[in-house]
Amino acid sequence: MVVETDQTQEMLYAIRNQFPILNQMVGKHPLVYFDNAATTQKPETVIQSLDDYYRNYNANIHRGAHYLADKGTTAYESSRKKIQQFISAETPEQVIFTKGTTEGINLIASGLAKSYLKAGDEILITGMEHHANIVPWQMACEQSGAVLKVIPVLDNGELDLEAAEKLMSEKTKVFSMVYISNALGTINPAKELIAKAANLGAITVLDCAQAVGHFVINVQDLGTDFAVFSGHKMFGPTGIGILYGKKARLEALPPYQGGGEMIKEVTFEKTTYNELPFRFEAGTPNIADGIGLGFAVDFIQSLDRQTIEAHEHELLKLATDIISQTPGLRIIGQAANKASVVSFVSDKAHPSDIGTLLDQYGIAVRTGHHCCQPLMSRFGVPGTVRVSLSFYNTKEELEIFARHLNKVMSMLA
Ligand code: PLP
Repeated sequence: MVVETDQTQEMLYAIRNQFPILNQMVGKHPLVYFDNAATTQKPETVIQSLDDYYRNYNANIHRGAHYLADKGTTAYESSRKKIQQFISAETPEQVIFTKGTTEGINLIASGLAKSYLKAGDEILITGMEHHANIVPWQMACEQSGAVLKVIPVLDNGELDLEAAEKLMSEKTKVFSMVYISNALGTINPAKELIAKAANLGAITVLDCAQAVGHFVINVQDLGTDFAVFSGHKMFGPTGIGILYGKKARLEALPPYQGGGEMIKEVTFEKTTYNELPFRFEAGTPNIADGIGLGFAVDFIQSLDRQTIEAHEHELLKLATDIISQTPGLRIIGQAANKASVVSFVSDKAHPSDIGTLLDQYGIAVRTGHHCCQPLMSRFGVPGTVRVSLSFYNTKEELEIFARHLNKVMSMLA
């Protein structure tokens, strides 16, 4: 166990204090926010950036010939550059602003269905995907005649890598996988699996929705063709996300939506499309939140990664101990390599009853299928209670959780 020094504790509290929402009461109880896999909270700098944009330089960007439009364009495009550096993308043009992970995957899947997939091709995903990485591929299969294949999940919540090897073949035209499971916390061996699929000629897609809030993503090192994530899961605003793609892959993909921004020239006879990144950014963009996401990147980069990761690890271990020592509870997902998520079920109570009672004590957890219905079926449960932690959570909060969890479970016995 890592012992956090007073200095480390002080630093962690200083970071937590940058999140104003955390310092509030829910009735008579201090808020304990353990729903970070659903969305993370926002630091003061991100909140201020939104206020500053609307208060001081709101204008439509890119083609404006005036001071405010220029200022907005500079801020928006500098945010794109920050994100490029943050994920180690080759160029800013390969960083496409989207609404979030869901839109990113839909953009790729619908483009590939139109331009690349054929009847009999195989699309490979894993058994622990969020619905956002299942349904768009099912739609692509319907359109193209491709077939969806799924890598099974082992009882401990890890991917069955032997089965993965067998499922990958020259027929695999797309391999789309989740980096960190939002429901189990499993960190998957993304780099290795992507390399295997790419060697067979598949286009690879990595769902980094959960990963971006926990560790630094390097898209070039991962070797993925596409990567997607959401701003709101990395301390940024909702309604904004990123699609990264290798240049040739993006250029080969047809536009997703038509309209302003994404064109070079329009006549009634024919339209030519704009260059990257604009050909995938039709219409007025989400300017404020795009700028806000750049501030979230600045915030993440201001953190001491080593300390943050050690603290998150410590919290995960504590939460796992608390839940596994509570009689009648069973943890779903015990992978060797996990991020800060603990999902559990009780043999006596429904997850939503546990969640509702914990809420009476100010403790915010998520209950249900976590948009992973096939995964819940795999484990034979209707849903789980999910505790998901971030670096601004504290050991004291976990002590509060332990006390109330015991109380709640004895009420439900
Ligand atoms: N993929 C994973 C692993 C997720 O956890 C989520 C959201 O919880 C998504 C995709 C969808 O993200 P969004 O709703 O922000 O588009």
